[in-house]
Amino acid sequence: MTQILSGKDVAASLKEKNKVQSARLRAQGCLPSLAIVRVGERPDDVYYENSIIKNCAAVDIDCRTYVLPSDVEQKKLNDTLSCLAGDEGVSGIFFFSPLPSGLDETAARALIPPQKDVDSLSRASAAGLYAGDPGGFAPCTPAAVMEILQYYGVRLAGARVTVVGRSLVVGKPLALLLLAANATVTIAHSRTEALPELCREAHILVAAMGKPRFINASFVRTGQTVIDVGINADPQDAHKICGDVDFAAVSPLVDKITPVPGGVGSVTVAVLMSHVLTAAAKLGGLR
Ligand code: NAP
Repeated sequence: MTQILSGKDVAASLKEKNKVQSARLRAQGCLPSLAIVRVGERPDDVYYENSIIKNCAAVDIDCRTYVLPSDVEQKKLNDTLSCLAGDEGVSGIFFFSPLPSGLDETAARALIPPQKDVDSLSRASAAGLYAGDPGGFAPCTPAAVMEILQYYGVRLAGARVTVVGRSLVVGKPLALLLLAANATVTIAHSRTEALPELCREAHILVAAMGKPRFINASFVRTGQTVIDVGINADPQDAHKICGDVDFAAVSPLVDKITPVPGGVGSVTVAVLMSHVLTAAAKLGGLR
């Protein structure tokens, strides 16, 4: 019988921990706060922003949003980020990516100090992750995958993991987190040869490609854990989303699998909340 790894259960558990941590910090005079910077009115960004605001309210994190027009000058964006970076009342800074064309995103990211970089946007945070620096934050989506694996007790030490996707936000940082947990990691991408075989060899298969239902029955075998990071518009129904895994075809064949929706995406915002709380504790000199 296949075990469905519900992200909602993981998120609910994290939320309870976050509430306790938030109350503890407030009792010690430390007020956790998140600053969200949004440039423009992209519907996806606004949707995600509302979800973040709701989640902040649920765990008593102060949340302020700064909305800049899509034709904002780089200097204004940089000034906003620099001001938040220096503001002692701000524990974490989050901005939506990609920025509208014409803005230098790398330069903007560099203005977020690693201790406030709760979604690991900057090169300094990426370098910290690469070097195994415990002081920084991992990007929220790869961290959410790790939370799910830990919550359901999936063995990582010694396990062979294939990660399909090598983006800076998901594939690469996830591979580093898995490696740090003593897994043996293979990273696959669009030029990888014999991808189905490589996927079948793994104990754990992670799909982070952005290709709706690409991973079908030929990519899996019995006994595997499959983590689907993909969030795609469903080609069969424009009102729905689907993952990178063909859930109907794959789920009967494997041991454990995350659904979409209700999988990795459900955990990402809860991880962001826990990062803000950790940032607040560190900035306040608390543990
Ligand atoms: P991305 O930047 O487009 O990267 C996609 C990666 O998949 C690339 O490395 C690409 O290889 C690889 N790939 C594409 N087609 C492939 C193929 N046919 N065979 C093997 N590899 C292939 O996407 P992303 O930002 O990492 O996002 C990946 C998915 O995760 C998307 O569906 C996105 O919506 C979703 N996502 C979910 C969350 C969440 O919270 N659950 C958060 C972020 C993203 P190359 O490098 O060779 O091009």
